[in-house]
Amino acid sequence: MTMRSKLMVGNWKMNGSLAANASLLSDILAGMAGVTCRAAVCSPFVYLPQLQVLLAGSSVASGAQDVSMHESGAFTGEVSASMLRDFGVRFAIVGHSERRQYHGETDAQVAAKAQRALAAGITPIVCVGESLVEREAGQTEAVVKRQLAAVIHANGHCISEIVVAYEPVWAIGTGRTATPEMAQQVHAVLRSQLQAATAHADRVSILYGGSMNAANAAELLAQPDVDGGLIGGAALKGPDFLCMLQAAS
Ligand code: PEP
Repeated sequence: MTMRSKLMVGNWKMNGSLAANASLLSDILAGMAGVTCRAAVCSPFVYLPQLQVLLAGSSVASGAQDVSMHESGAFTGEVSASMLRDFGVRFAIVGHSERRQYHGETDAQVAAKAQRALAAGITPIVCVGESLVEREAGQTEAVVKRQLAAVIHANGHCISEIVVAYEPVWAIGTGRTATPEMAQQVHAVLRSQLQAATAHADRVSILYGGSMNAANAAELLAQPDVDGGLIGGAALKGPDFLCMLQAAS
């Protein structure tokens, strides 16, 4: 029996509009009866005030897709953790593979972002995951351990407050999902790495992400160390997202 209730997080990426978000959120909120898992949606920064209004009083939390590694100051275009806090944001994704790949984010920067989020009372969702080349070269464990080690090193005893998302890069947006066994194997590696760093590793939710959908969510979520999902494409469709929330409840 685990003490972790499942956590399902939608990552909208750079999608949405005021009208589309309002419609998606009203579909989701209308279908929450019977949902007992924790749920959140991560929108582009500009829509966070809209989420704050539309999700007020509901059991769906809002999240950002990134956060600055700096506290404040001359960092044009950046958004700080305390600014997110002003808008009731509960989660911030850090180190998504799209940011590591297209924006050159390093392990150290991702760790610093996690630290800023935690200091502002926001839960960082730390993404780790190997590329296809790395998997085929047998480097999966080494890669995810290196990525998580940086965050553990920078965050010390606060590490039990983070959420980890294992997202194999080859599974993101490709329709190719890790098998439940592949996911569990990596999640177990991450769990034992956390256990070596904190006595509270059992509290850390380790999410799976990468083409999770309404059809495959239940079998992934049935794995002992899969504590929820980080969902991209399928989180943009109300019925699909709700179906996954039901699978996690
Ligand atoms: C993601 O972007 O975090 C993700 C998992 O995307 P998708 O579900 O579309 O593969």
